[in-house]
Amino acid sequence: MPDFHKLPIKYRAKWDYGARSGPTKAVVFHMAEGTDVASYLVTERRAGVSVQYTIEQKTSRFGDGEIVRTLPERRISGSLAPDKIRRDNDPDGYYGAKHAKYALGDWWLNPNEAVISVEVAGRADDGPTPRQVESMIALFADIDRRYGRVIPLAHRDFANYKACPGRTPAIKLAFRTMGGHGKDFDQRPERRFMSTRGFIPGQVCDVQPGTGLHDTPGGKRIAVIEGDAPRALLGYAPPWDAHEWALISVTEVGGGNRTAWVRAGKIANVRPGAQPGDSTGNAKAAGWESALVRGVESLQALRTMGPGGAGL
Ligand SMILES: [Zn+2]
Repeated sequence: MPDFHKLPIKYRAKWDYGARSGPTKAVVFHMAEGTDVASYLVTERRAGVSVQYTIEQKTSRFGDGEIVRTLPERRISGSLAPDKIRRDNDPDGYYGAKHAKYALGDWWLNPNEAVISVEVAGRADDGPTPRQVESMIALFADIDRRYGRVIPLAHRDFANYKACPGRTPAIKLAFRTMGGHGKDFDQRPERRFMSTRGFIPGQVCDVQPGTGLHDTPGGKRIAVIEGDAPRALLGYAPPWDAHEWALISVTEVGGGNRTAWVRAGKIANVRPGAQPGDSTGNAKAAGWESALVRGVESLQALRTMGPGGAGL
């Protein structure tokens, strides 16, 4: 997974409101109603708007889905107007104050302190391109991995006078992949294991036959490993630095993949899984993309772990 927070800042947003004092609780997405967003924000002087990242569309300056870092994550961006925060919810509950409060708690009325904000180039009516959706998911997964747990939010959760970022199928797909939105958001407590800080797509490992499989780290033993096939290694449980419990993918007798926890001491030979096919740049990119898709699927699997187990 690339370290997006280490990208060079070639376009620094003009509006930097100082060091952020809040925790990082959410990522807020906008549709910018324009393109070349990062370069626009360098000289923006009308609205005081800034963000930490933009996700661009193809222009003479930027590539489709290109993630551009415009402010460090620990600076306060100006993407939400704190004096106009909505108190109501959309009739269908998809966007609204309830979800913002759930995500930010007491920071709800001072949101720019506790969020990382992202402007997605394009219009709310048209939605993001497929590559922009991939980039939204990759950037969210990267931030989620580094901060432990963040929740996806939208400008409209704070502003009922704006459609931003809209309700296109592409935007809804992006939010669904990140865990849902509004009343569809998955609030089951099992979600605490959704993100493992060591989460890296495309890793495999060996697990000793006879190793116990558990439904949660330290929880009920549900089965034992048979055979010596390599297993996908999805990550580790908190505390992040202890590496005590590892999450692996296993195939049940009779077919069907699921995830299960094993004592990390029982795994060995952690190595990259499917490697890119050859040395050409395109193959590398394609390999990275399929690793990303696998990673997103794994992330979803981690998110959908049910109360009694970890079924896919
Ligand atoms: Zn917006």
